[in-house]
Amino acid sequence: MFSVSSPSSSAGLDTPSPDHASTVLPQTPADPSPRASPTNKQSGDVNQRRRKNVVSGGLKAAAEGVMELASDAQENARGTQKGETKGEWLPAAIFIFISHVLVISYVLAFVVAYLRPSRPLHPFFTPSSSLIGLTLVSAWLNLLGVTAGYHRLWSHRAYRASFGLRVLLAIIGLMSFQGSARWWALKHRLHHRFTDTPSDPYDATRGLWYSHMGWLFEAPPFNPKRRLINMKDLDQDVVVVFQKRYLLWGYLIFGGIVPGLIGLYTDGSFWLGAFWIGFIGRFISWHCIWTINSFSHWEGYKEFSTFSSAVYVALLNLVQNGEGHHNYHHAFVRDYRHGHRWYDWDPTKWMINLWWMLGMATDLYEVDQNQVLQAKALTLEEEAAKVRALAKWGPKDADLPTWTMQQFEQEAAKYKGKKILMRYREYVLDVTSFNDHPGGRAYLSAYHGRDITRAFEGEINLHTQAAYNMTAMYRVAIIKE
Ligand SMILES: [Zn+2]
Ligand SMILES: [Zn+2]
Repeated sequence: MFSVSSPSSSAGLDTPSPDHASTVLPQTPADPSPRASPTNKQSGDVNQRRRKNVVSGGLKAAAEGVMELASDAQENARGTQKGETKGEWLPAAIFIFISHVLVISYVLAFVVAYLRPSRPLHPFFTPSSSLIGLTLVSAWLNLLGVTAGYHRLWSHRAYRASFGLRVLLAIIGLMSFQGSARWWALKHRLHHRFTDTPSDPYDATRGLWYSHMGWLFEAPPFNPKRRLINMKDLDQDVVVVFQKRYLLWGYLIFGGIVPGLIGLYTDGSFWLGAFWIGFIGRFISWHCIWTINSFSHWEGYKEFSTFSSAVYVALLNLVQNGEGHHNYHHAFVRDYRHGHRWYDWDPTKWMINLWWMLGMATDLYEVDQNQVLQAKALTLEEEAAKVRALAKWGPKDADLPTWTMQQFEQEAAKYKGKKILMRYREYVLDVTSFNDHPGGRAYLSAYHGRDITRAFEGEINLHTQAAYNMTAMYRVAIIKE
């Protein structure tokens, strides 16, 4: 048979699980394939705790599950009345708006002042190179606090972090003014669970502006799907609970006072430090992170999954700290690597590896390579099917009449000099209309009524793949002996 006429099926893998299915947090977390800690101390403790949970499981777990749902329901009810509607989103929206006005005004004022060289620039427009450098470092740290902390650790439990590392990541998270780790993780778990639907907090189907930052300026509606998201693991993390409780103090100290003190040290100005590191640095990191929700759900390459709008954009990945491999991430949410190959640009992954080497991170979850190959094969097949549908492939086998060899000889005799009929493998080809053969029409006519299989496949000439594909277009019958 011609391989071109019978596309292979996807080997029984036509119905893979939706990539977001695995993002619903199980009540009892499944064991990852952990990478052992250099000391193995923490993972040993964790296993002990896990064993304990299994022993006391059953009824207790069921009761805890009910309690969890009840407390979530209460939380949702609060959310409709006063909770997040005014208590959290409005001050955050106002703060983000004011931050943008300040930073954009500063840049415009700087340009205007710079274009009037007769007057010396105000000291507020001449920060030292140290302060500018530290602002960029702080922007990157803000990014890391979110990508390695809020995202991979707390939203997806892609690895386990020591108490010290969690404190550090929580502090950096405060510097970045991205809300509490719990708030961030809840939104993000909703995003994965309900990607591209109205229950996705930054639903990309509502446009680039909405998914980038527009969603921050709308009161979040009551979301009944919220109860499907299990936040118990974060409610048991003392660092997360403490950070949420003292969020405003944390913002003030690490987002305002510390940057100010740095400015005092480098430039002798508290306000210059607070503005550059606190506002400009944060402005940069905010937009880098927000591009993950917007541009990484817009146009780009889907290498591992076509179930959602998540894509890979190489250029953006450079400013997203490795999170630009967003298509891979949506396919394998718990993998601590977003760039899964060692050379893929993913500084967050490299930092987690460094912490693992220092014994600060354990249980780094890596998805099985076979799953990656399966995912890639399926998306390639999907892509191939789209291209295949664009091309013409000649008649299908089922639509061709069946001839005996004798019939073929009779037809050849009947149309001698009128048509050019030839046998290729089990097919009869009618190449009367084919005028582009390098040997010319007379050459083709010489093969009328003959079997060209051996000549075509190398005895006379070794034809190209394109020539093989083309024979499919000229089939008019199948010969059954
Ligand atoms: Zn995620
Ligand atoms: Zn996403």
